[in-house]
Amino acid sequence: MKKILITGAAGFLGSHLCDKFIKEGYHVIGMDNFITGDEKNIKHLNGNECFEFMTHDITEYIEIEGTLDYILHFASPASPIDYLKIPIQTLKVGSLGTHNLLGLAKAKSARILIASTSEVYGDPLVHPQTEEYYGNVNTIGPRGVYDEAKRFQESITMAYHRFHGVETRIVRIFNTYGPRMRLNDGRVIPAFMGQALRGEDLTVFGDGLQTRSFCYVDDQIEGIYKLLLSDYVYPINIGNPHEITIKDFAEEIIKLTGTQQKIIYKDLPVNDPLQRQPDISLAKKELNWHPLVERAEGMKITFDYFKGLSKDELYASEHKNFEKHIKR
Ligand code: UDP
Repeated sequence: MKKILITGAAGFLGSHLCDKFIKEGYHVIGMDNFITGDEKNIKHLNGNECFEFMTHDITEYIEIEGTLDYILHFASPASPIDYLKIPIQTLKVGSLGTHNLLGLAKAKSARILIASTSEVYGDPLVHPQTEEYYGNVNTIGPRGVYDEAKRFQESITMAYHRFHGVETRIVRIFNTYGPRMRLNDGRVIPAFMGQALRGEDLTVFGDGLQTRSFCYVDDQIEGIYKLLLSDYVYPINIGNPHEITIKDFAEEIIKLTGTQQKIIYKDLPVNDPLQRQPDISLAKKELNWHPLVERAEGMKITFDYFKGLSKDELYASEHKNFEKHIKR
């Protein structure tokens, strides 16, 4: 049985990856420090003999007994309001955490896939974004803590590949959604759906003409799975190219949820990218992958998930562990 370590295992993508690799017959070691992850996302794996869990902060030395075949590095705050609240931890997990994991991969001769992001393109001047584009990032802006950590992560990963011969893979993840997103993580889909469920107006930032392209989680997981097992070592975009303005998207959510509320406009956050759409030609060519789930279908599944949350979860304004970590 192949053994795989998944960091950020209690997070949105991490927990779905745990499910996927268990389903594919792997032994999964999940790791998380719960700074933004949630025990709830992996509760169903309790007692599963193909799964073990370690509570650990990967910015500290990582010790794994025995052999290891693969590592998936998915630990990081990933939403703009999260990384504004915990900027130092965001920088550390992308830099020190990645360094520790690459060292572990080298020691175990394991193949490692790291989660990068469309944020490496910053506020892009090239549209749609191809992997060749170097990006337009404000290093010292509020989003810089995430964007630059991820850019460093890509650099150190390629350095370990070139210098030490470590088998590496890099996925650039574009906006992805689905069940197990944190309702209060501030991102647009949980934000709008939470507002609809609480009977609040939907907050569109700026004029709402900025665009995003949303990928359903099952498609994202399949792309990551194919990339890990492929021979492709350079960064590859995984996302859904179906682009929409945030204003039109808010109107879609109003229709889907049946809310009587209206759209209200708030200030656009600093350095909020004006447009984002992945060019996925490379993923199609190298991985024979493309997304299958239509937005209407994925949004319905996601809204059903949020509808099932408890009242406490619906009204919690921020992640329960932030306070503890911020004081540290
Ligand atoms: N956004 C919005 N209202 C909200 C939350 C987000 O209009 O309540 C906008 C945000 O300014 C951005 C887009 O939705 O233009 C996507 O934001 P998100 O935080 O989901 O992720 P990003 O793609 O910016 O990393």
